[in-house]
Amino acid sequence: MKIVAVLVSFSLLISSCSQNAITGRKQLSFFKESDIQDMAATQYKQFLTESKVVASATSKDAEMVRRVGQRLSAAITKFYTDKGLAKELEGYQWEYNLVDSKEVNAWCMPGGKIVVYTGLLPISQNEAALAVVMGHEVAHALAKHGNERMSQATAQQLGGVALEVAVANKSPEARNIFMGAYGIGTTVGGTLPFSRKHELEADKLGLIYAALAGYNPQEAIPLWERMEKAASGSQKPPELLSTHPTEATRIEKLKAMMPEALKYYKPMNQGGK
Ligand SMILES: [Zn+2]
Repeated sequence: MKIVAVLVSFSLLISSCSQNAITGRKQLSFFKESDIQDMAATQYKQFLTESKVVASATSKDAEMVRRVGQRLSAAITKFYTDKGLAKELEGYQWEYNLVDSKEVNAWCMPGGKIVVYTGLLPISQNEAALAVVMGHEVAHALAKHGNERMSQATAQQLGGVALEVAVANKSPEARNIFMGAYGIGTTVGGTLPFSRKHELEADKLGLIYAALAGYNPQEAIPLWERMEKAASGSQKPPELLSTHPTEATRIEKLKAMMPEALKYYKPMNQGGK
């Protein structure tokens, strides 16, 4: 029985290795993007009902989050369409919300469901740096890192077949693994930190997305310096860093990526800095 399960999982592994359109990297993906997006939409809705959402009609900060989100999604849609990759954005229904919370955090679920926590804003400090963070989060979603992490985790634990069914049925087990893989709801089991490889990909794509949206990607350098300072100067490091681990060489790597990112940068008249 066990051998059969292993064999089935193994064949699934082979058939579930796909090439990512935007990174060009082969990755494990057991789950249908449409199933993941369905689950994301459900979890997003639930998260918002359980959180204090800041109304963009009355808050300049919430309005800024929405504006950055709209610029990013418009720029990404054009970028993908120009590259003939519009299909990759199938099912994306972008939403951007600011949530009142001390957590220094932000995330984006597949399908373009973005949350920024008010706790991030004292560290992001300006709109371009916020765009860098949101671009990074969107990059994780578009590079399908969550799917890959869920697939890797379940290849070792449940076996791919079981989880594929669980995801399609939106079972509680699948929900927990999903939340863990996307760094949401730390109360539900442990969250998985993104790997170095994923962080590097998200940093690089995030800079390009921010630049395409008219934001100066060079704001990434002081942003990550502020983030590291917040981590070293506090007993409670930013939540963002627990799912997006930083390393000593991050800023050096960001600097190395900058010439390419700047090729995409066309400053906006307002708010781009
Ligand atoms: Zn990250």
